[in-house]
Amino acid sequence: MEKRNELYSGKVKTIYATDDKKKVIMHFRDDATAFDGVKHEKLQRKGMVNNHFNAFIMEKLAAAGVGNHFEKVLNDNDSLVKHLDMLPLECIVRNIAAGSLCRRYGIKEGLELNPPLYELCYKSDELHDPFINECHARAFDWASDEELVVMQQQSIAVNNVLKPLFLEAGMLLVDYKLEFGRFGGEILLGDEFTPDGCRVWDAETREILDKDRFRKDMGDVVESYEIIAKRLGVGI
Ligand code: 5GP
Repeated sequence: MEKRNELYSGKVKTIYATDDKKKVIMHFRDDATAFDGVKHEKLQRKGMVNNHFNAFIMEKLAAAGVGNHFEKVLNDNDSLVKHLDMLPLECIVRNIAAGSLCRRYGIKEGLELNPPLYELCYKSDELHDPFINECHARAFDWASDEELVVMQQQSIAVNNVLKPLFLEAGMLLVDYKLEFGRFGGEILLGDEFTPDGCRVWDAETREILDKDRFRKDMGDVVESYEIIAKRLGVGI
């Protein structure tokens, strides 16, 4: 597989074309960002850890029947994935109240959400990823009715696989963000699933192990990502 020109550079990943139009290379850099890119640092080993972490999770999801774009790891920082036409939406699933949910509704952090809460945001740093509902997505032609249904179903299917997986490893999957894209006639899970885009707490102590450590200047960010990875059995 030949790595060709850069197609897109996001806040923490760069996407490269390949000699196959249907496949791209997802390169995980050592960047860490928060608050829509306002806070930005380089954290050694982060790209490598997240690349292997994402591969492990995407393979678990595929094995459980949740189709996604992941194909294979190419090296420590690169993975080959299907070339999706990404939708400008963020699908958020919450098992426990935290973050913007608490700020938005004055809810106490730690409230258990059963059944899990599903939310949609419009992906735009400029607008700070505003909270939207399905009517906005349809009105602005960001996704069709059918696509919105599939995204919600797949987002919850991810939870049914990952929530128990994290719990068995002594961790609570508090919430997470997913992104989807079009591939041929179907909607597939794309982007990444790493501690950058989810909240994970130790099940006993509720110690924060995810990107909130970076947002809140708690230190040991990559070390914490590695703790999550090790507990899950990710080979790094
Ligand atoms: P919140 O809405 O509470 O800020 O985030 C909910 C969950 O989605 C958290 O796990 C958070 O990390 C993730 N999330 C929300 N927006 C983004 C984003 O723009 N980028 C990343 N990486 N994760 C996000």
